[in-house]
Amino acid sequence: MVRLPHIAERAMVDVLRSGRLAQGEQVAAFEAEFAALHGVPHAVAVNSGTAALVGALSALGIGPGDEVLTTPFSFVATVNAILEVGARPRFVDIDDRDFALDPAAVEAAITPATAAILVVHLFGQCADMGSLTAVAARHGLALVEDAAQAHGARFGVASAGAFGVGCFSFYATKNLTTGEGGMVTTHDVGLAERLRLLRNHGMASRYEYVRAGHNWRMTDLAAAIGRAQLPDYDDVVARRTANAVALTEGLRDLDELLLPAEQPGRRHVWHQYTVRVRGGRRDALAAGLADRGIGSAVHYPAVLADLTHVAGVARGGDAIPTARRCAESVVSIPVHHHLTAGEIERIVWATRDALRGSSR
Ligand SMILES: *Cc1c(COP(=O)(O)O)cnc(C)c1O
Repeated sequence: MVRLPHIAERAMVDVLRSGRLAQGEQVAAFEAEFAALHGVPHAVAVNSGTAALVGALSALGIGPGDEVLTTPFSFVATVNAILEVGARPRFVDIDDRDFALDPAAVEAAITPATAAILVVHLFGQCADMGSLTAVAARHGLALVEDAAQAHGARFGVASAGAFGVGCFSFYATKNLTTGEGGMVTTHDVGLAERLRLLRNHGMASRYEYVRAGHNWRMTDLAAAIGRAQLPDYDDVVARRTANAVALTEGLRDLDELLLPAEQPGRRHVWHQYTVRVRGGRRDALAAGLADRGIGSAVHYPAVLADLTHVAGVARGGDAIPTARRCAESVVSIPVHHHLTAGEIERIVWATRDALRGSSR
């Protein structure tokens, strides 16, 4: 559940009274502030993370005949965006330290048809962007970042979304939310202009249509809600980080669990705290947590390569052993920034007790 600051209520009323409900001043201001937060010159607001992904791939000119290298361990929108533009997904295995694309495996999977790498910064931590940007540059490939879960995450000094073309989501469950919404970040002014056309019916000025387009516009109400969260966002990340540290402190001695870790030189924003459970006991732990009143969720129970609408089209699903192991063993336990120290203690206790119980 999100508890938005009261300032969001005020901003909404102001928008309603302004009479400009979509693609107005609030959207422009949100774009400028979001771009500044991520150290990029251009940000283009859209109405979902999925629209951001489809828009980024379209604006890069990726389509039929092209292959896009991507992770099999993500939310379905990642692969759907590739299918939507008519390109072919080729899955590459992940590194189990950050649950993201393994750069060496990416380089080994490049074919003459490869046009882009679509990396996902899963659970709030950046992939190994040092190596992935090098691979993309060496082979002249576009680099698209699915940063739907990674607002403000960093690799070195640079933010998620500042390495290639960044695609963010503001869906209700994300670290930053507008209910529904998305943003594309880029250093490329031409790409930003193509995206602005694509999101608004391909219209350059009123009734001047320069290409086919969509309606991906964000409302000013949504932008006002997003803007209201930006001043507190570092606090949100700090509280999530403190919760993650406390969970790790409380669970680190358990042999049954492999705990998530912030990799050196990266800033994890802890969208999820996702553990791996050894010995095939993931479902037992999830059930045990539910019995003790703690919600958990499996992100994600299947690799994308196995989804029926993907399997026939995509390549690479036969060589992703790490992703398959993760899909069988992961479970996410609560880490969000509204949790109190007492609630974290209860989650730690319930996890320890459930593991004891399920081994009886
Ligand atoms: C949420 C999410 C999306 C899709 O964003 P929407 O705003 O729901 O369209 C895409 N990729 C990942 C990894 C996500 O978590």
